[in-house]
Amino acid sequence: MTDPTGVDREQMARRFAEQRARLERAARDAGRDPASVRLLAVSKTQPPEALRAAYELGQRDFGENYVQELLAKAEALADLPDLRFHLIGHLQRNKARLVAGRVHMVHTIDSVRLAQELGKRAAGAGRAGRLPVLVEVNVGGEPEKSGCAPDELGPLLDAVEKDPALHLRGLMTVPPATEEAEGARPFFDALRGLRDRHGGVERLPELSMGMSHDADVAVAAGATWVRIGTALFGPRPPKEP
Ligand SMILES: *Cc1c(COP(=O)(O)O)cnc(C)c1O
Repeated sequence: MTDPTGVDREQMARRFAEQRARLERAARDAGRDPASVRLLAVSKTQPPEALRAAYELGQRDFGENYVQELLAKAEALADLPDLRFHLIGHLQRNKARLVAGRVHMVHTIDSVRLAQELGKRAAGAGRAGRLPVLVEVNVGGEPEKSGCAPDELGPLLDAVEKDPALHLRGLMTVPPATEEAEGARPFFDALRGLRDRHGGVERLPELSMGMSHDADVAVAAGATWVRIGTALFGPRPPKEP
């Protein structure tokens, strides 16, 4: 049933329940505490009403890819003060200023220059604390994807860590697309391996990996944030040209 805002709340409630159960099952199968796996609802292209409906189902963390879209939704949902936006799309340096005071976490730091710019803007944004960030790694080495190369990770982590306005929390990746979910496993394992080589869970407690297609595999590999869009909100409209 669709309500006047165009959101099918029953279907959404069913999908959220399914995905929460899926992550919990994957965590138990992996011998992990289900509370260590958090669901990031990827709401790109969805109208603010869809996020509001998800909020009413208890969801608090939402992932957005595009800065303007994130800002518009933050504005439309400003009456929900504990709703948290995570930026999961590539961030251009000239947009760092726009998000520094508005997001709960940035998952996509991929260069020292971006880290410095975001740090500068976060310091000036009057935030209550440091801005939590993850460093994105291009583990598949795909030229068209953003993310730092694995061998650039050391200096980038050091730069983020020494920025007084940023709080280094972990790593993020988007693996190459594969037919089978299992195909993503070597890339998730690679991200975890990088975490282990660069300070382990003490320094990098969060691993943001896994999407609708491969969430279970990501949880088995150690994901703490799983970014799910389609399986929660349904298929996205095709991108406008
Ligand atoms: C769109 C997107 C997702 C969600 O993908 P689904 O297949 O819809 O679950 C996750 N992470 C990133 C970085 C995305 O851009």
